[in-house]
Amino acid sequence: MVCRICGSTHTKNTYSVNDKMFAGTEKFEYFDCSECGTLQISDFPMEMSRFYPDNYYSLKSRQKVTDTFIQMVRDYIFFYNFPSFLSKKLSVKIPNLALEAFLKIKPSPTAKILDVGCGEGKFLKSIYRLGFKNSVGIDPFALETIEKPFPIYKKTLSEMDAKFDVITFNHVFEHVENTHQTLRECYRNSTDTGKIIIRVPVKDSAAFEKYGENWVQWDSPRHFHLLTKTAFEILAKENGFFIESYYNDSYKFQFTGSEKYSRGLSYQSSNSIFTKDEIIKFRKESQDLNTIGRGDQVVVVLSKL
Ligand SMILES: [Zn+2]
Repeated sequence: MVCRICGSTHTKNTYSVNDKMFAGTEKFEYFDCSECGTLQISDFPMEMSRFYPDNYYSLKSRQKVTDTFIQMVRDYIFFYNFPSFLSKKLSVKIPNLALEAFLKIKPSPTAKILDVGCGEGKFLKSIYRLGFKNSVGIDPFALETIEKPFPIYKKTLSEMDAKFDVITFNHVFEHVENTHQTLRECYRNSTDTGKIIIRVPVKDSAAFEKYGENWVQWDSPRHFHLLTKTAFEILAKENGFFIESYYNDSYKFQFTGSEKYSRGLSYQSSNSIFTKDEIIKFRKESQDLNTIGRGDQVVVVLSKL
């Protein structure tokens, strides 16, 4: 097996894992590279669309109107970082991790922004409300092209030809077949001072080590590559970027979701199976893991070399 990230032919382990999100019986082969550590699917399944059933996106976006209002207020608090104590508290209780990562790079209000794999545009909606009007989303699985209030095109990155100040991948990069090519496309579509924000699950994490195939973010067969810090260093360097910042933004889901799989439950089953104290413990452990760089997901900011 040849690692798609570093080219090494040395394999550490091989795995055979089913689709736990939809309780599939088909098994998918994965291996991890001895050199860069990336956990990767051996072969891309035919017709990936069968693993993205109609309820895949709606699973994520199901919410009440009151929740939408609360989230709007929360986003303003994050944007102004006022009151700051509340901003910190909300970041743990009802985070908007994509927005928090975006605001950390201090983007100009006129910045030209591209969200890759934007889905129904949840992230774009939250930044649009905060005044970032110069935004575009692309998603090869978009149902149709939408023009208002911001455009969403049914396109891939390779079909784009424009220069953006910020390109974001919010839990999309792990679904990409060719990570090197995707970064080359980012390079081509970025301004000289452009930044790429990639948020992904990572394999060099305590949750992967603890839960193995029940780690909720393995998500076989949808997640093709579960990268590591070493893998990102290689990807950045080989495609003309350097890592400007790299930090964890994992949260309680790494425990709630993985515990459910370990107990043979669906990840959609209610969190009411956990006690209040357990939830508090999962939140605290996630924060502790983030502090020592062992959380199960990261924010990577790349700039051109
Ligand atoms: Zn490798």
